[in-house]
This record gives sequence, C-alpha cells and structure tokens, in this order.
Amino acid sequence: MNGADSDSIEGMLLSLGMEKATNGTADLVLYNTCAVRDKAEHRMVSELGEVAKAKRLYPSMKIGILGCAAESLRPSLENRHYVDLIQDGKDLEEMKEAVLTLLPDEIELTPDVLSTHRAGHLSGMVPVIRGCSYMCSYCIVPRTRGLQRSRPLEEILQETEACLDKGSKEIYLLGQNFLAYGRDLREGLKPEEMVRAVHDAFPECRRIRFLTSHPHDVTRSFLEVLSSLPRVAPYFHLPFQSGSDAVLKAMRRITTRAVVEKKMGWIREIWPQASISTDIIIGFPTERASDFDDTLSLVDSLDLDFAYSFLYSPRPQTRAWEMGDPIPHTEKVDRMTRLQDLLGSIWSRKNAQWIGNTVSVLVEGPEKSGKANRFTGRSPSWHPVHFTSDIDPTGTFVDVKIERSGKTSLGGVHV
Ligand code: SF4
Repeated sequence: MNGADSDSIEGMLLSLGMEKATNGTADLVLYNTCAVRDKAEHRMVSELGEVAKAKRLYPSMKIGILGCAAESLRPSLENRHYVDLIQDGKDLEEMKEAVLTLLPDEIELTPDVLSTHRAGHLSGMVPVIRGCSYMCSYCIVPRTRGLQRSRPLEEILQETEACLDKGSKEIYLLGQNFLAYGRDLREGLKPEEMVRAVHDAFPECRRIRFLTSHPHDVTRSFLEVLSSLPRVAPYFHLPFQSGSDAVLKAMRRITTRAVVEKKMGWIREIWPQASISTDIIIGFPTERASDFDDTLSLVDSLDLDFAYSFLYSPRPQTRAWEMGDPIPHTEKVDRMTRLQDLLGSIWSRKNAQWIGNTVSVLVEGPEKSGKANRFTGRSPSWHPVHFTSDIDPTGTFVDVKIERSGKTSLGGVHV
C-alpha cells in the first residue's frame, strides 16, 4: 500500500519536471513508511539522522514523513525540528497536497497535478480499498489508515490504465482487506465483480494479482469467478496468523481454525491450480507452547506453497499493547526455527513437482548473484524463478523450463 502511494506521489513529482536525486543533495526527501511492525520505523528513524546531517549542509532541503509511520511516530517526529512535514496516509490526495507545499518556488503547478500519475514500475500497484474496518488486536492499520473506504470502480479502472500506460506489465489490486471490497459502496459491488471488470477492460494486461484476504470473507462465488478469469494469476494469499482458536480469539481475528481449514479447502476444490500462502505471527502474548503446536499442525495439514512468518512485536495504540510482550525473544526464535524447518520440508517436496514444467515468468532483472546470463522473475504461482537466458529479457514475459527446485525458488532455462 505504501509502495502504491509512493508510486503515485513519485509520478506526480516527475510530471512537474522534478527528477530523482542520486547524489544525496535533494531538494526534497520523502519517507513513506509502514508501521505494521517496528522494524521499518526503526530503520527510518536511524536514517533520519543522516538526512538531518545532509540538511545542515544543504539547508533548503525539505524533509517529509508520510504514511502510517507518520501517524504512529507523530509525537517523536514533532520534536525533530528538521522535519518539515508529517502527514498520515489515510487519504492519498491529502498526502499529495501536503507534498506540494514542500516544493521549491520555481516548480510550477499544473491544473491536473493531483490527478492520476504513476511513476511506472514493472508491477503496477492499484489500491482498491483504503483502510480496514476489522479490529485485529495486534494491528495498527485501522488507526493509521482509518476505516475501510472502497474506491469506485471508475477510479480503479483509471488508475489501472495509468499504470499500463506507464509500462507496467502486471497489476496488483490491493486492499488490506481485499475481500471486503464494495461493502461500503452504495452500488454494493462485490470483489469478484470488480476484478472481472478490470480483467475484461484491459485484455492487454497479461497478469492480475490481488492482495490481501481475510479467511472470514472468502466465498465460493469469489473463487468460482476468479478461477474462470484466465489472466488472474493463480495465487491466493490468505493470512491465518495462528492455528490456535484461543490465540485467534485473543487476536480478535473473527475466525477459527475450522473456518480457515474450510476456506483453504474451498480454494483447493474450486481453484486447484492456485498456490496458497499465508502470514503467521509467532509469539503473540497469549501463545502457549501448545498453541504454537496447533499452528504447526495446521501448517502441516494445509500443504502451503509459501508462508511469511513474523516475530510478534507489540505496537502502541493497539488493543494487544497492554498485554505486553511476555514471551522471551529466544523462545520466539526457537518457535520460528521449528516452523521454518517444517515449511522447508513442505516446500522442498512441493517445489520439486515443478521440475519439467514450463512456466511464464515476468522478468525483474539480472539475478542478484551477478552471474552472467542469469535472470530472475516470478511465475504466475508467485514462485521466484532464477534462469539462464542468452538475451536480456528484463521487463518481459518469457517461458522458462524448470530444471531445478529449492526450498524457496525454482531454477531453469529460457526456452
Ligand atoms: S484484517 Fe488485516 S489490516 Fe485489518 S485489522 Fe486485521 S490484520 Fe489489520
């Protein structure tokens, strides 16, 4: 979500003739930072010290803090005299208007300055909902981003078009709670109707993805429609956070293990080609050893293709904050290791099944190893694919024959 907002703000600034700074003496430095966990906040705060030093050498530099961290860190940011703007991320247009107040005088504003601009990235991020109306006890999103506001279909189509015009090759439709799309719209559009409208309006867009869903809201109708749309990538991210009903209750997740199992079963039944991933929080304050065993047994039974696991960190202004952080860090790390070992064995087995298949890969660029003729991209099922190619196919879709598999990626050759 922050990435999508940043792309839009960057596109606006580029449309005004500004350029990306490369040498540390920028007119404008903007941070648009996540606050879901404390890690990103810590990184931004430590970098701010360096930016403050640069501003001493270049006093006309303006510094703006935007998004969720601007809200969660507001009191401490207000004490930093070198910060020129603190603007929460509830409303993109307000963020953009606030950024405009920091521009040097010689930048002339255009009449359409606030309309849809995109910087243009390989993956175009299009938020379909801002905020979230659920109240998970560990989550700061409803506070930093506000309650759910679905965007009208017209805006979504307009922004998708802007991304494609700027060269995006795939579209991510984003909502903190994607499947709740439309409930707050007068016309009552369902999420599957919105995805179908985007799919049908842009036949040139070869890949559409969506994030992130809550198990409570998965419907058979959504799965039936999505599985029938050929350019929707077969990948479903469905965070369940814990396999213990007691912990789910304390998390206020309005779901149970049985519901998670049922909804995962629906995905396997109705959209069998879809890979499935989840998010898991380790060390929530009420998580006993037996609760964590429940998480392991759920992971084991679901045969997940990916899982993103996080050590719990308490966030101020959430309900769970008052529970403290009673589980020792070493215990959390031990639980994480056990989970990773289990996931590693599942993934090794599942990924080996891809060997011999040819998959369509959207190429992100050269492989990080720096080896010649090696490139990286993602398959429709979200697998990172590292492969060999005689040409540089960055930014295009190519077919890759899978010859190797590892725990977290696939390897092959461009065919
Ligand atoms: S559904 Fe997601 S975004 Fe909404 S409160 Fe729960 S964890 Fe946060």
